[in-house]
Parts: sequence; C-alpha cells; structure tokens
Amino acid sequence: MTEKPNHEQRAYSAWKILTEVSFQRGTITYGDLAKLLNIHPRPIRIILGIIYDHCVNNNLPPLTILVLNKLTGLPGSGFTDYDPLNPQKVFDFVYDFNWRIIENPFEYARTGTNQNELASRLLNFPDQSADVFAQVKVRGIQQRIFRQALLKAYKYSCAMCGFSFPEALEACHIIPYSECGPAQKLDIKNGLLLCSTHHKLFDKGYITVNNNYSIDYFDMKEEEGKHTEYDRLMTINLHSKKLNLPKDINHLPDAANLEIHRKLWIEG
Ligand SMILES: [Zn+2]
Repeated sequence: MTEKPNHEQRAYSAWKILTEVSFQRGTITYGDLAKLLNIHPRPIRIILGIIYDHCVNNNLPPLTILVLNKLTGLPGSGFTDYDPLNPQKVFDFVYDFNWRIIENPFEYARTGTNQNELASRLLNFPDQSADVFAQVKVRGIQQRIFRQALLKAYKYSCAMCGFSFPEALEACHIIPYSECGPAQKLDIKNGLLLCSTHHKLFDKGYITVNNNYSIDYFDMKEEEGKHTEYDRLMTINLHSKKLNLPKDINHLPDAANLEIHRKLWIEG
C-alpha cells in the first residue's frame, strides 16, 4: 500500500448513503454498503465508528443502526443504542429525524483531506486558519482539529501546570469562540492547551495571563474563601509563574488576545 486509505473521505460517502436509506425507512447490510463504497467489507466498521462517534457527540440519532449483519439481521454490536426489547424504537428515532436539515459533517474530506492534515495545516501555516475554518463546517470537528494542533504545539501538556494525561487536555480559546472572527476560531495563536481544570478556571476568569506570559490568579489572599491544599496547588502556587509555551515562535499565544481576555474579566 502506497497511500493510507482516507476513512473520513469514506465516511463522507457512507453518510450520504445512510441518510438516503433513512429517508426510505430502510436498512442496508454491511456487504451492500461495502459494495456501494467500492471497498472491502473489513474497514466498514472503522467508517461506521467515525459516523457513530459523530452522532453520539452531537446528540444525533445513531444513523449507523441502519447497517445490519446479513446473517443475524441485527445491527452490529458497539455502534448502536439498540434495545432488543423494543427494536423498533431506535429505528423510528433515526427515521423520524430530518437528516436533510444538517450538512454532511465529513464534507471537508470530500476531496481527500482529513483531520490530521488540517491540524498540520494549522500548525505549519497559522495564517490559513480562516480557510480551514471555511472548509470544516461542524463545530465539534473544528474543535478536534484545533485540539490536535495545540496538543502538538504544546507537546501534550497543560500550559499552566504540565498535566499530561491526553484525555484531560483541552483546546482553550483565548478570545472565546463565540466572540472571535472566523480567522481566530482556529488560530493557534488564539489557543492554549490546558487541562480541564485550568480550562474552566481560565474561561471563568479566575486565572488570566499577563503580557509577559505570566499566570495571574485573582484571589491570592483567599478573600473569596479558604482554599484547600489542592486548590492552592492549582491556583495560588502558579501565580506569576510563566506559561509552558510552544517552542515555535509562530505558535505563541497572541499577547493582544491575552489582553482582551484579561480586560473581559478585570474591567468587565
Ligand atoms: Zn493544568
């Protein structure tokens, strides 16, 4: 194999097929879906996994339940919210949803790119963030790409405390997503890689960052309440310490953005 198959591109095609099957209130077998996609049935589960994850993460009905095992006549295990006592319920849930009102979430992959490539583009060409934003319409996927780029830029550890369990590391927007323009929404210079705790504390303004990248905690004297030892470790003890920053100067958080965040909380 010279080139790895692009499962996200296949998910784009499978999404089109499955939403059509849903309009017709029908089902399809793994084998038939593979034939329509012009691939071997083996990777079908990977493709369905991508679609199923998307449905679950976006509170959509589990579209992949429409794909049945030819031998058992049942949906594949692991992909469904199938209830053997009430099998029709989840099918109706899928059929009754108007799939036409949402865009194909894998549209970005139609011409052959994937999330990895887009994340690399954010890292290598930060100025192209608006183009990537235009290409990826679904916010959940934008967030995944942004996080992937930040994980690499910050070498998989929280910019404030160094916590490095990947599952607990999040992509934080300095100027909040809802308040910044298209170019900033995926701009690595408008991002910080933070652990879940520091992400929340930053988003709520308990912690801000100064121009020289030093951490500023708002309640050094514990006037707003007594801190536990662990509270102090995560807040007071970090005050005036410098952020763990990316090595590449093009990935540094933009000082102007940090100032806007600070003003948002300090000046109201
Ligand atoms: Zn942290």
